[in-house]
Formats: sequence, C-alpha cells, structure tokens
Amino acid sequence: MSYSIETLCQHLEGDDVNAHFGAISYPIYQTAAFAHKGFGQSSGYDYTRLQNPTRAQLEKTVAQLEHGIDCIAFSSGMCAIGCVMELFHPGDHILIDEDLYGGSIRLFREISAKNGIEFTSAPLSRVNVEEYIKDNTRAVYLETPTNPMMNVTDLAALARVTKKHGILLIVDNTFLSPYFQNPLELGADIVLHSGTKFLAGHHDAIAGFAIVKDPELRDRLRFLFKTTGAGLDPFDAWLVLRGIKTLAVRMDRAKQNAERLAAFLDSDPHVTRVLYPGLPKHPGYEIMKKQARGFGAMITFDVPSREFAIAVLEHVNVILFAESLGGTESLITYPVTQTHSDVPKDVLERNGIHETTLRLSVGIEGVEDLIGDLRQAFQKAAELCGWSQEA
Ligand SMILES: *Cc1c(COP(=O)(O)O)cnc(C)c1O
Repeated sequence: MSYSIETLCQHLEGDDVNAHFGAISYPIYQTAAFAHKGFGQSSGYDYTRLQNPTRAQLEKTVAQLEHGIDCIAFSSGMCAIGCVMELFHPGDHILIDEDLYGGSIRLFREISAKNGIEFTSAPLSRVNVEEYIKDNTRAVYLETPTNPMMNVTDLAALARVTKKHGILLIVDNTFLSPYFQNPLELGADIVLHSGTKFLAGHHDAIAGFAIVKDPELRDRLRFLFKTTGAGLDPFDAWLVLRGIKTLAVRMDRAKQNAERLAAFLDSDPHVTRVLYPGLPKHPGYEIMKKQARGFGAMITFDVPSREFAIAVLEHVNVILFAESLGGTESLITYPVTQTHSDVPKDVLERNGIHETTLRLSVGIEGVEDLIGDLRQAFQKAAELCGWSQEA
C-alpha cells in the first residue's frame, strides 16, 4: 500500500474511476437482494445481510486505514464486539482491562458470562499480564487510551505476551481512530471500532467495525457475521464513507484543540485532576509517543464536587451535554450516570471514576470559544456551589 492515509480517506488505490458512471461519491446500493444472471452465477452480491457494494467499499476503506486484510461493518460498535465474543466457547477465559467502555463491561458481565465465558479484569497498563494468563485464557481485550481514565498500555509489549501464549489480542481503537493508531501493526489480532465516533465523525450514524489480518480469523468472523446478521445498512455505510473523507483534517484539528484545552484545564484552579495522554506528566505520555501518531481528542477531568460537576453540565453553551464522542461538535458527559451507569460502584471507584469526573470529547470549533465556554461554566458553578479558591 503506497497511498498516504489522507488519500486513502478519499479513494482506494486501484479503484476504477470509470465504474458507476464516474460517480465521485460512491453510490448507495439500496437493495436487499441481487438478481442472478443464471443458475450458479453471482455478481459477487446475493443478499445484503451477507454483502452489499456500498458496505463493501466502506469495509475496504477501513481495512486499508487499519492495515488489515479485511474489515466487517456492523450496525453498531456493540454488534461488532458481540460478534467477536461469538468466537469463544463456554469455559474460555478472557482477560479484560478494568477500565473499558461501559457498554462493553455490560456485555461481558451480563451476556457473555451467561454464555459460559469467564472474565478477569485487571488494570492492564500497570500489571504483569502474564500473571493473569491461565490454561483456558483465549484472549486479552482492551482499549488504549481507556474510556474514560486514559490509561495507556504498551501494545507491542502486550502483543509479545499474547503471541507467546498463542492467545488473541483484541483492541478497541475507537478513541484514537486509525488516523492516530494502528494496533494490528503493533501486534494485535483484532481491532474494533465504534464507527459512530471519529470514523463517522458527525454524530449522525451508528456503526461498528472489526478488522483482522489473519485469513482464518477473517473466515470465522465472516461466518458469524452472516449468521447473526448485524450488518451496517447501505445508507449508513455511505454516511460513514462520507465522514471518513475528512477524517484526517478533523482529527488534526480536534487534537490541536484538545491539547490547548488540556493545558487550560491543567492551569485552571477549579480543576482538581486532568487526564490527557498528551500532557507530558501523564504516565502514558512516552508510550503514546512511541505507538501513536497523536494524543487524540478525549480529556477526562475532575472538579471540586458532584454539585459543581452537575452545574458545569448545565451551564455549558458551546459544548453540548451529551453521551457519545468523536464528532465535529464538542460534547461533555458525566461517566458515573451516563456512559458507565451500569458499572458497579466499587468498580468505578477502584478505577478512579468519581462523582466529580467529567469527560470531554473535543470537536473542531474555535478553540477560544471552547475555553471561554468552560471558563464561564466554571464561574457559574463556583457561584452556585459557593466555591472559592481559598476554601
Ligand atoms: C461508543 C463506544 C462503543 C460502542 O459503540 P456503539 O457504536 O455505540 O455501539 C464501544 N467502545 C467504545 C470505546 C466506545 O466509545
């Protein structure tokens, strides 16, 4: 592959420019089924649950962005994760990071566990992973940086351990997108994305991806995919293809804004903790520099009290109080009752997610407007809570 990532976001190497009447925007094949030319003949497309040209174009694009041999596009990130869990059998053990997207924790605890899959969670960025591997361990599953604590794990080092033990390394790469990090290149076996986030990028579509580099794993996942049937529909596939056209410029701007905001938060007296892997004091800073091309656009921070946090959520104007992340608009959320509401309290506390913790997804607005918005929200919150610097 010789095209740069910026070019791959526009069109793929080897694409026939004369196909589809020269259409520059890839057509939406809004059809459930494809007619056969004759008995035993197929255009390569039979039924949209299995394959659809618009979805296939998106899958090829994301596979190339992540340096995989195949990508499967699902109707949500959770469908992608759920399908990957179907690779495992009762009695299998999976080691997971303690800090994960709340929905993934819910899936593992409530559904995969019921199906006989055993999980152990540990802070993978800080422990000796080898000590947690048992005879029946089949995979290690993590995010880096994690949601919402921004813990960074050395993927190449972890991949050496999983290879040695012949187990799968599964990485949810949603937070950085393939523009900043390519886990397959660092030794991962399966990369997952909530395509809803940075890849689609506009808070207007729900999508998920699983990308692999091994043909046997591809065949097993393709079989599970066509059998369980959670494929991304053609129109949403087109929306994500369209979103990816600007992935590079969006990521660059969001990262720049995030670096400025992290510096602002770090110096603001109302803020008691800032977690952003682009701050040199962050414990994952050096690893991020080694394994990623950018620090991303997610920032977690703490304010003095629960009341203060709620007042901030209620007084931001430019930044929107909403779940989700990775779009052009900046969003702020409250992990305890929103993204991580189903995670048991003791697990939240152990991971450092408090009632004072806020998570910011930085968009591409003017950075001075974002800083100004937080500054005025902090002031209002301080007045409402009777907070003063001396207190
Ligand atoms: C949002 C998210 C998911 C789930 O994706 P959906 O598209 O909402 O189903 C999984 N992992 C991470 C890190 C996420 O942020």
